[in-house]
Amino acid sequence: MANLINHPMAGRSEVFDTFGRPLGSLRLSVTDRCNLRCNYCMPEPEYVWLPREDILSFEEMATLAGYFADLGVEKVRLTGGEPLLRRDLARLVRLLRQDRRITEVALTTNGILLADHAQELYEAGLDRVTVSLDTLRAERFRQLTGRDEFSRVLEGIESVGKTGFSHLKLDTVVIRGFNEDELYALVEFAKQYRAEVRFIEYMDVGGANDWSLEKVLSQDTILDMFGRRYGQVIPIPDRGTAPAQRFRLPDGTIFGIIPSTTVPFCAHCDRSRVTADGLWYLCLYASSGVDLGKPLRRGASPLEMQELIRSVWAARRDRGAEDRKALEQVGLRSGGLIHIDRLREDPHLEMHARGG
Ligand code: SAM
Ligand code: SF4
Ligand code: SF4
Repeated sequence: MANLINHPMAGRSEVFDTFGRPLGSLRLSVTDRCNLRCNYCMPEPEYVWLPREDILSFEEMATLAGYFADLGVEKVRLTGGEPLLRRDLARLVRLLRQDRRITEVALTTNGILLADHAQELYEAGLDRVTVSLDTLRAERFRQLTGRDEFSRVLEGIESVGKTGFSHLKLDTVVIRGFNEDELYALVEFAKQYRAEVRFIEYMDVGGANDWSLEKVLSQDTILDMFGRRYGQVIPIPDRGTAPAQRFRLPDGTIFGIIPSTTVPFCAHCDRSRVTADGLWYLCLYASSGVDLGKPLRRGASPLEMQELIRSVWAARRDRGAEDRKALEQVGLRSGGLIHIDRLREDPHLEMHARGG
């Protein structure tokens, strides 16, 4: 078992799992709907959506977040689906911001609706924005996402700086044979906006049914590419519980890599994921979740909710990406994690339901 005192985020957490990992951050998926169809996430023509009546209101989401805060969660990230499809998302940001224990509210978005909402989100107290950006080519964007919306994503990225946000990250899923020829360009592009790019290794999660090991461009390969182009690439220490390892180029430019597939970081994972209907997942790869929405709606007391969350986290053993890696080592990691028929039976298993 890990040494609790040495854990990078032992901080305010009131509860530790079986490997000594604190309950530190919450990814709140506010909707499973999306206005893009990225082929690594939503490759199918049709989807089964979460029942509308089960989708939690903003008040219910803020109440749930409060129960997590009771046990030490300080950071909340809003995600989806596409979170900006939820009308007046700024209201949820305000509700979360009223809880003093929540010190950071962040947003992950595909950027299409960002220019329309950046100002109100900023004023509501949103701290950080991450925009997913896999390509700088409009035609490639259309090919990847099935939608002709690249210029709106650019407008969204531009709006972040104009609005006053001090943190902007650009997340790029790297797929071998698709966009590895744009990695330098993405780093240069980010500089213009004082943003930081993070390259995400392609993962075999949820709806990633086209996934194969051959399409994964590993952290090692990316570092090798950057080293040859720019010179020495220096890792920045103190990653803490962050999924990204950050690196500095000789000219001072910083970028990150999230090497979930080849170098899993489960040992420090303090993240919880709650779907828009209140199902709580302890891991991106978990095949079942704990329903927090139902007890919340039947009026469970705060103590009951806290005890439920506490006991589930204390029993947590999930190390999904490491388990997948172990399968790879015995030659059993051949395709996406979950078969399409099973995804149709249970939409919670989709990446766009549990927020990535
Ligand atoms: N729609 C928003 C967006 O795209 O930013 C938020 C939700 S999306 C599920 C969150 C993140 O998951 C995105 O950065 C996306 O690129 C990433 N993602 C989705 N499928 C992935 C996969 N198979 N491998 C790696 N990252 C993936
Ligand atoms: Fe793409 Fe995000 Fe939508 Fe998935 S949820 S299809 S990653 S925009
Ligand atoms: Fe955390 Fe699961 Fe991802 Fe590992 S695979 S880092 S345990 S969410």
